[in-house]
Amino acid sequence: MNEEQKQRMAAFVQVLRTTDLPQTEGYLNIVEGCGCSWSRKGMCCLGVACEQVPDLPKRTEQAKCTSCGQPFTYMVYGQHAAAGLPEEARKFFGLTEEYPTVIHAGQAERAHRLNDNDRLPFKVIGDAFARAYLR
Ligand SMILES: [Zn+2]
Repeated sequence: MNEEQKQRMAAFVQVLRTTDLPQTEGYLNIVEGCGCSWSRKGMCCLGVACEQVPDLPKRTEQAKCTSCGQPFTYMVYGQHAAAGLPEEARKFFGLTEEYPTVIHAGQAERAHRLNDNDRLPFKVIGDAFARAYLR
């Protein structure tokens, strides 16, 4: 991670610590929810990261909620259909991992697991990114 990438990481951490964007799990960014609480509108912490990358191509796709069966609309970033960071975003921040490792409660953890499994708020995940990358 070079100095410029570190500045970008610092700006991303600041967004996580201060945003009041709705948070969701399992997708980078659900732009329109299904209507139930399962595939609801919001972003994952890695979706917030994608939104910091200028000119990152994005397009919407639809899927059916596995809980209620209603459609929801999610954002696909770059050439990449998975829920991890696309290559363009990894390069922007100087990250090597599709699912970046952060430090939470003294342990190395995957950021998306703190978001999806532990359902920790963005602010806490921002602190975990800072511990891993802003020393
Ligand atoms: Zn649903």
